[in-house]
This record gives sequence, C-alpha cells and structure tokens, in this order.
Amino acid sequence: MPDMAEPGLVPAALLGLCPRCGARDLFAGLAHFAPRCSTCDLDFASFNVGDGPAAFLTFFVGALMVGLAGWMALRWDPAWWVYVLVLTPLGLGVTTWGLRAGKAALLAAEYRRRAGEYRGSGSDLP
Ligand SMILES: [Zn+2]
Repeated sequence: MPDMAEPGLVPAALLGLCPRCGARDLFAGLAHFAPRCSTCDLDFASFNVGDGPAAFLTFFVGALMVGLAGWMALRWDPAWWVYVLVLTPLGLGVTTWGLRAGKAALLAAEYRRRAGEYRGSGSDLP
C-alpha cells in the first residue's frame, strides 16, 4: 500500500485529493467524482455532498461578476463585447474551480467526521 497520509482539508479541497490517502484522483471529470479511489479504494459514491457548494457559488460568483462588471463600466466603459470576452471565461473558470473545491472540501469534511447515513439496527441508539 502506498503512503496513506491523510491530507489536510485545504489541500484536499484545492487539489482534489482523496481524503484518505491523498491521491489526486477524486474527480473523474470537471466536477464529477470518480466512483472510487484508484489507490486506496475509498468509495467516493458513498458520500453525499448535496448541492451546498452550488448554492454558495451562485451567490458568490454572481456577486463577483456583477461587482467586476460595475467596476469595469465605471473605470473604462468598454464596448459590450469586452464584458463578454472577460466575464464569460472568468465566470466559467471561477464556477468550475469553486465547484470542484467546494465538493472536495465537503467530501473531505464528511470523511474526517465519519458523517454519513445511519446504517445500524437501531438497538444502539440511546
Ligand atoms: Zn485514496
């Protein structure tokens, strides 16, 4: 078995690292989790990060783009196509990177706190 050092929450989020072994194989696509870690076989599909990162990004990226567009208008008053050329790739990039980082952070937090659905029989509940 290779080195199994658990990465910190921030490196795991920023680099898309497996929360158990630190391998860089958390994602199989732009923002889609791989089914399992190819190094330590951690089942990524068993984690449920939900839509939390997407909701947060909607507000954050929207505010950032509106603020930047307002600043550009006041500073340079460029033609409309300059807004399209600058804000479209920037918005797509920030959204994609933010979604990856947010999903990876939530998955790493779930792993560290052993959070998940209850799968016991109920006899061990208080
Ligand atoms: Zn792993």
